[in-house]
Amino acid sequence: RTVYVNGDYLPEDEAKVSIFDRAFLMADGVYEVTSVLGGKLIDFAGHARRLERSLNELDIKKPAVFGDLLEIHRELVKVNGIEDGLVYLQITRGAPGDRDFVFPDPETTEPTVVLFTQNKPGLADSPAAKVGMKVISIEDVRWGRRDIKTVQLLYPSMGKMMAKKAGADDAWMVQDGHVTEGTSNNAYIITGNTIVTRALSNDILHGITRAAVLRFAKEAQMQVEERNFTIDEAKKADEAFITSASSFVMPVVEIDGVALGDGTPGARTARLREIYLDESRKAAI
Ligand code: PMP
Repeated sequence: RTVYVNGDYLPEDEAKVSIFDRAFLMADGVYEVTSVLGGKLIDFAGHARRLERSLNELDIKKPAVFGDLLEIHRELVKVNGIEDGLVYLQITRGAPGDRDFVFPDPETTEPTVVLFTQNKPGLADSPAAKVGMKVISIEDVRWGRRDIKTVQLLYPSMGKMMAKKAGADDAWMVQDGHVTEGTSNNAYIITGNTIVTRALSNDILHGITRAAVLRFAKEAQMQVEERNFTIDEAKKADEAFITSASSFVMPVVEIDGVALGDGTPGARTARLREIYLDESRKAAI
């Protein structure tokens, strides 16, 4: 696979980043994952906007190459022959010559920019979409700025392992009794014709897929309520689902061992997934 590091396209085993890189030592970096369907990027503009916001919130200098990111994404998709898959992008505060809690001078330390592709044939035909996912609930103990897409992913990773150990597929995190989001996705329940999902704040990542799905839901005459909900309310819902750039819209059929409805993916969720995939494919670049 060919990857991109700081201006160079290289074979993956020749790509190098300093051991003093702030992301390696302090998780001082941000990332984006953009999906590729039919060789085209889904919602690149949304990911680029959120990336810029993440950099701003952390005072990481915008790399000189920022304006070329679309071209770099496209080049990697092309050279790696990606039909369906993902492009991972990471920008860090860079690698000063030593370890120090104080931010390095942005005049002398350039951000590190890394991109690579992941080939996922049939990404949109995942069998999980037909079977649905089981989730468990866990306490949300992450930091208070989850709206910034940092590479600080240890707790989400631990959450996924807790889910696996419990025989489930993912975990929904709970803060003060209310669901925040999944370990790598936004969380929703549906009751009747109403979709409920937590409102945007510093408590959750502002999902690019979330924004699109809520827009399409309104167009499909579904009601949307952006408010808190509990695990108890979720267990009684008709349907539940998650969204993310890599899973699109994915049904949830079980929460903490309690099946939703008849335990199979809901019709409204299936419809939302269909609309999302159709519209996203049409708008892909
Ligand atoms: N929440 C969290 C914690 C995530 O890690 C992700 C995916 N990176 C999402 C939500 C979904 O965001 P998006 O739809 O932009 O992929």
